[in-house]
Amino acid sequence: MNTELMVKNATQVKVDEFLTRPLRMLIDGAWVDGEHGERELIDPTTGAAFARVTRGSEANVDAAVRAAERAGAVWRELTPARRAELIHRLGELIHEHADELALLESKNTGKPLSQARMFDVAHAAETAIANSGWATRLNGETRDMSRPGDWHAMTIRQPLGVVGAIVPWNAPLPMAVNKTTAALAAGCTVVLKPAEITPATTVRLGELILEAGIPAGVVNIVLGAGSVVGEAMVQHPTVAKISFTGSTEVGVRIGQACAASMKKCSLELGGKSPVIVFPDANLAKAVPAVAMGIFGNSGQVCAAGSRLFVHQAIHEEFVAAIAQFANQLRVGAAGDADLGPLISDTQKQTVLGYIESGIQEGATLVCGGDITGPGYFVRPTVMTDVHADMKMVREEIFGPVLAVQTFDDETSLSELLARANDSDYGLSASVWTRDISTALTLARGLEVGTVRLNSAVGIDPALPFGGVKMSGTGRENGIEGVEQFTEIKTIVIDLSS
Ligand code: NAP
Ligand code: MG
Repeated sequence: MNTELMVKNATQVKVDEFLTRPLRMLIDGAWVDGEHGERELIDPTTGAAFARVTRGSEANVDAAVRAAERAGAVWRELTPARRAELIHRLGELIHEHADELALLESKNTGKPLSQARMFDVAHAAETAIANSGWATRLNGETRDMSRPGDWHAMTIRQPLGVVGAIVPWNAPLPMAVNKTTAALAAGCTVVLKPAEITPATTVRLGELILEAGIPAGVVNIVLGAGSVVGEAMVQHPTVAKISFTGSTEVGVRIGQACAASMKKCSLELGGKSPVIVFPDANLAKAVPAVAMGIFGNSGQVCAAGSRLFVHQAIHEEFVAAIAQFANQLRVGAAGDADLGPLISDTQKQTVLGYIESGIQEGATLVCGGDITGPGYFVRPTVMTDVHADMKMVREEIFGPVLAVQTFDDETSLSELLARANDSDYGLSASVWTRDISTALTLARGLEVGTVRLNSAVGIDPALPFGGVKMSGTGRENGIEGVEQFTEIKTIVIDLSS
């Protein structure tokens, strides 16, 4: 056996061993059982249980919040440089344990190992390292006042306090790391809740947080149902801010609950992102990018490009190329698969329901649909003859389903904008054209948080990311993402006294 294989096997053994014990909560630096028993974790590639996880209660959340509150004093006593060092160390540890974390994420979510490794884990490590730098770079300003007199006025930026971070199941590790390290860089402490069905890498992250030397209680991990544990975090009077990623439905409810006590909240919600392709685009580049923009992670991406608007002149050729690309994607549980399953049977049934509703409303199925097997697989799906008021065009599917509409030379840019903006959502958009005026006119007019021009890339630790309209409020990543965990205070001094 070669060395590489032996190392891989050793990592697999470590992951298997980690999963033999029920996953527990991290509260005040100790691993504890929840008050509501345990549940099984299901492997979405087979439908079989593979591990057990403890379930927390309101009282467990209260203990976690109190621990985070106490640890706030410890965390803020450290110099910004020391905090930066500890967050940076966490990023290094994620990097050092990348194979192990990828195996764990792949096991829990079903996503192909290579993608867990290349995207999820790599992005998590990069984000921690990038966020660590903000710890030493958050500052207030001095201001020159308008009023006559001898004044010195300044702002200072202070951490909000205890942050409740609530994470969904589609990218568990990077989202947990993103929210946690941004809050830590701002000087906050954290109570972190993964989705109940995908806690595995978050629990391992908790171990790495302790290993990095981040003091006990600075990050606490609570496990359990959103309706119990999540609600308790949102309702807790000591939690100063909720940072939520997930469905618009739950996000709206959290926003309303936070408003009642003026708790801060940022909401990163769903999307129905438009992709606009002109005949002058580099189509060889656009085809794989547009295809993976909706089929990647089996469509379980908030910013997935799910509504394609393609110019009539290239409609047939472009749709055929996307379908051909889709048909050669390997869907399955094997190590070399391109796409894994949907996260759960519920999600699979939801996606199939949307495909069925499209067909019933008159859409044409170009490729895709169900595939057999015990897991929750749905083949990448392309549908044409769709129109703007179909259910599958209006609602977020969160699956690998592309809805294709067309435009032509008669369509003005303002008309195209109106059609692209005809959505409750406003997260992301892509435009493919070599015409700079067209590209920038559309970029300025699209009602979204991120526009990608001739590119599939839109999410990076440096770039503010978030939505408008029902896609949410607030930004993650970049300095904007860290500043949202701080409050500005104004200090005015009358020097004449
Ligand atoms: P969800 O219900 O919004 O769950 C997201 C997170 O919020 C999970 O950690 C969940 O916990 C928690 N949660 C649920 N109810 C809560 C409550 N009342 N108070 C506080 N926290 C609560 O999303 P989902 O049910 O997993 O997925 C449903 C749909 O949401 C998907 O089909 C998709 O359209 C959308 N979605 C969007 C994103 C995104 O990135 N924008 C991500 C995931 C899902 P538990 O899961 O443990 O109950
Ligand atoms: Mg839910």
